[in-house]
Amino acid sequence: MKKKDTTVQRAARVITPALHIYYPINVVSGKGIHVHSSSGQTYMDFSSGLAVLNIGHNHPRVLEAVRNQMLHVIHTGGIYYNETTVAAAEHLVSVTPKGLDMLFFSNSGAEAVEGALKLARHVTGRQGIISFTGGFHGRTLGALSITTSSVRYRENYLPLLPSVYHVPYPYCFRCPFNCESNVCALRCFDYLKETLARVISPEEVAAIIIEPVLGEGGYFPAPHPFILALRELCTRHGIMLIFDEVQSGMGRTGRWFATEYYGVVPDIVTVAKGIASGFPLSAVVSTPELMRRWPEGSHGTTFGGNPVSCAASIATIEVIREEGLLKKSSVIGTAALDRLHELADVHPLVGSVRGFGYMIGVEFVRETGEPNGDACRKVLDYCLKKGLVLIGCGLDRNVIRFIPPLIATEAEVNLALDIMEAGVKTLS
Ligand code: PLP
Repeated sequence: MKKKDTTVQRAARVITPALHIYYPINVVSGKGIHVHSSSGQTYMDFSSGLAVLNIGHNHPRVLEAVRNQMLHVIHTGGIYYNETTVAAAEHLVSVTPKGLDMLFFSNSGAEAVEGALKLARHVTGRQGIISFTGGFHGRTLGALSITTSSVRYRENYLPLLPSVYHVPYPYCFRCPFNCESNVCALRCFDYLKETLARVISPEEVAAIIIEPVLGEGGYFPAPHPFILALRELCTRHGIMLIFDEVQSGMGRTGRWFATEYYGVVPDIVTVAKGIASGFPLSAVVSTPELMRRWPEGSHGTTFGGNPVSCAASIATIEVIREEGLLKKSSVIGTAALDRLHELADVHPLVGSVRGFGYMIGVEFVRETGEPNGDACRKVLDYCLKKGLVLIGCGLDRNVIRFIPPLIATEAEVNLALDIMEAGVKTLS
């Protein structure tokens, strides 16, 4: 009898190869930090479904909220109001940075970024947008125009949006200006100022958009003085400062938003991924003052703010709050960071370890200091064989994203670190 094709084989026939899937595993169920495959294996999912499942897979509170919502109404489509959607907005603005109290719900990170750019252009009446080389903001054409984490995402899609300028991200471990970080004096910021003096007038810039913690581009937090200087510059010139917290938001860094580490408030923040435990939902959040200058009908959506996703979002925020997950994950994350620093001290191929909370980057290097994607790949493969799912990032795919669900306990994080360390030791 002919053997039935596997899910992975069937996928190759009907799902475009343009969509990259990290691992050829067919997942049949997930619970908490674990997923189970059709071949009977259990994995610790420390990818958190690409930084989405901050309270883990299928949290019972999310399931209950979603089931309950489905019994009442699933879709409102911008035709009616719905209590759950309004309550979800109230919940979200209760955790977003101070003063950012009004939002627009959409479905994905890229869509939130599109909304943020449109809001900035609308309220400033300006065209120019500045983003940072290495940043990832999504794959729709507007978001792609400001995405420069890899040319792979951009090639064959030109022309993209006009009036977009890219300046170096302050990725100090690989300083674009070859500075030592302790003598840097913000050369990246000088470059930005020079761009505003030579390339585009600040009076024509609608927005500067940055990931406060670089995600896909390499998991690197921007230095504090850089973000402070950026805030001051934007305020001085009436430029909208957009923080893309699609990846770093919703508790990932041990605070609701990474912006809290910097003590500044952007004009606009984008939120997605961890907002609804896997249900499609995202938001552009800003001040009521700016939002009220975005007139009715100038932006819209059919599915954004879907009541089922919103029910999941409310449950997610409540669980993070009630279980004290920000505090817990930041304490365990700091200990994990210490342990990884010790590993970097003794292992020459671990070049740098950095991050906040459960958003940690482990960068692999060659003896020469060059990015070492091979070493990273080997460690990821080793971990997978041992039942630990981790994913990479960075231009050369030489950085491991250590991003457990916030519910991961100290013992679980230590177990994952044991596996990772053993994987690193196989390199030498
Ligand atoms: N912005 C950031 C910082 C991201 O990390 C991502 C996705 O990884 C996006 C935007 C795009 O989100 P989505 O894939 O939901 O469109």
